[in-house]
Amino acid sequence: MRRRQFISDSLIAGTVLGTVPFACTHSFDTEVLILGGGISGLYLAYLLDKAGKGYILIEGSDRFGGRMFFHPTIQQDVGGRGIGDKYKEIMSLVNDLDIDLIDITELTGGGRSYYVNNTLIPSFENRADDPALLEFVTPETPPDLEALDDWYKRSDLDQSYSDYLKKLGRTDEEIALLNISANYNDVYNTSCINSLHSRAFRKFNGSKVIYNFAGGTKSLINAIVESLKGDLRLNKIVTSISAKDNGITVSCEDGTSLKAAKVVCTLPFSTLRDVDLDLSLNPKQKTAIQGLSYTAITQIHFDAIEPYWEADKLSPSMWTDTALERIMTFGFGDDNRHLVAWVNGKGTHQFDTMSDSSIANFLLSEMKKIRPASEGKIEYTGTHSWGQYKFNKGAYCEFNVGQSSLFEDMIKPAGNVHFAGEHTATHSRGIEGAAESAKRVYNELMI
Ligand SMILES: Cc1cc2nc3c(=O)[nH]c(=O)nc-3n(C[C@H](O)[C@H](O)[C@H](O)COP(=O)(O)OP(=O)(O)OC[C@H]3O[C@@H](n4cnc5c(N)ncnc54)[C@H](O)[C@@H]3O)c2cc1C
Repeated sequence: MRRRQFISDSLIAGTVLGTVPFACTHSFDTEVLILGGGISGLYLAYLLDKAGKGYILIEGSDRFGGRMFFHPTIQQDVGGRGIGDKYKEIMSLVNDLDIDLIDITELTGGGRSYYVNNTLIPSFENRADDPALLEFVTPETPPDLEALDDWYKRSDLDQSYSDYLKKLGRTDEEIALLNISANYNDVYNTSCINSLHSRAFRKFNGSKVIYNFAGGTKSLINAIVESLKGDLRLNKIVTSISAKDNGITVSCEDGTSLKAAKVVCTLPFSTLRDVDLDLSLNPKQKTAIQGLSYTAITQIHFDAIEPYWEADKLSPSMWTDTALERIMTFGFGDDNRHLVAWVNGKGTHQFDTMSDSSIANFLLSEMKKIRPASEGKIEYTGTHSWGQYKFNKGAYCEFNVGQSSLFEDMIKPAGNVHFAGEHTATHSRGIEGAAESAKRVYNELMI
């Protein structure tokens, strides 16, 4: 495929690269300036291209894709990679760009072994006793939201996830156990709205088939980037956004700045809060930018030199009450020897201060303890901390109690600055949510 040339000087994108700016206003560098080159920024650029509109897109890191990140040393995707067959925006992009997918549905429902209370346990006969299912198999049936976009409208349901689980019949002991590896920072602070929205997404989106991208998410990201006609710039860390004079001025750490009629900001609020903002933000938007919670996730990757699970006849995937939390098989097909210890929330803190070699040693000794058959059979390949990664400072937004009431206001345009990104998605979640938000902003721009 054609390799695109990245232009790093201040050029008027539409004029140079042959697309048509919305309205050629010569005091602006571009009519539309997109901040962030993750899937939401790239998809918006793709839609603008299709409409023949010009834009400049700037990205702070040295690569595109954001949280769709094929890690260069780990040689695996460490961020979002699973998509569903009913992901409307993403599947249309996949079809347009002729991207090969791999059906991984069967791999998502596999069994697991356990290490709980210093004991290796092959499996739990009774689903109700399974600590990995405490969140999902509750004594009472949890209420369902009635629509995909109900979650931010149901302030009556907004309470801490732990209180909610208690009402569903979970004991304090069970809640403490499930909190070890629940997909949140801490079930005592996070709102049950996050969980209700996930359930609603599974129910109403209705995807039955789960895919990964053949060759990793870089296949999709590279294909989008190569198809784009606009002006894309890497290594442009945004430090301020100002709506002072006529137009919006965006300044970057390298001393450059760009002036645009409209800006679309896809930066997660976890990094936007470090940007100097001189904008007419509404009060709830200000609160959300400053305080929206993001889930910390640390992944410790390793390879099995030999398939040790064939020796002890237990599932390689594990649920544990140790610092490694969950061990997941990560590869598929010929690459089925790749595993990851997936640590969520407060459990990530202890790894934040450890060196890479300390983490490697910790992994080997802990695995020897919880899975004796793995001794001498595993090789550490690297760690990625989403909480520490400077361009995200968290894996994805999670609403603490009270924060979903900020949502409707936090996604409104602030004058000519529009907001996209997974944290602004009204209906979907994850990769599809990010793409859906780009479509919403595209419609806002086209009005
Ligand atoms: C571990 C993990 C697993 C996941 N699994 C799934 C999954 O299986 N399925 C699914 O659908 N979703 C999943 N997701 C979520 C999905 O990856 C994200 O929702 C989606 O990729 C977010 O896209 P985005 O464009 O909103 O944000 P991003 O991809 O984060 O894009 C924002 C961009 O802004 C840039 N940026 C940040 N600050 C600045 C700055 N100051 N200046 C300039 N640029 C800046 C960043 O570098 C980034 O490229 C997962 C995410 C993680 C982290």
